[in-house]
Amino acid sequence: MPAYPCIKCRAPVDTGGDGVCKKCHEHKPFKCTKCEQAMDIFSVYAPEKLTFHKPIYCQRCGPTTELVDCRQCGISLTRSNAVEVQIKGKQDFYHPECYSKQTRVFRTVRTLAVGAGLLVCGYIGYMLSHNWPVALLLSLLGLPLGTLLARPFAPH
Ligand SMILES: [Zn+2]
Ligand SMILES: [Zn+2]
Ligand SMILES: [Zn+2]
Repeated sequence: MPAYPCIKCRAPVDTGGDGVCKKCHEHKPFKCTKCEQAMDIFSVYAPEKLTFHKPIYCQRCGPTTELVDCRQCGISLTRSNAVEVQIKGKQDFYHPECYSKQTRVFRTVRTLAVGAGLLVCGYIGYMLSHNWPVALLLSLLGLPLGTLLARPFAPH
């Protein structure tokens, strides 16, 4: 892990350890590059992403400087401007306008898929049973089926 100079004694402090300066025992040896506040290791933004060349930021300044890629259009934007979607521990980022576009696409696809599911299941139900109440009941299967089919279009 990269080390950054202690703000008190300038000795290098490793960001991979407990973050305490070994020389002067300073508990807040790091300095945010942007707002210049002293920080302990727990206040450092995304320490796992630090390299020897990267500036070090606090939790508040970090997201405003980090560049992320939009899941929808692939163009990068700063994290503080992005819509963050978290699914199963994985994080995706969107431009706000890309996110609402993706949500609209998903709703449209879901409506179409559910409609088609209802029709197909109802049709199969009638062919099998020649009984309208049974067909109607079977057509309800189209609801979860359509929702399932539309899932890949969900914004995540
Ligand atoms: Zn020190
Ligand atoms: Zn800061
Ligand atoms: Zn975008």
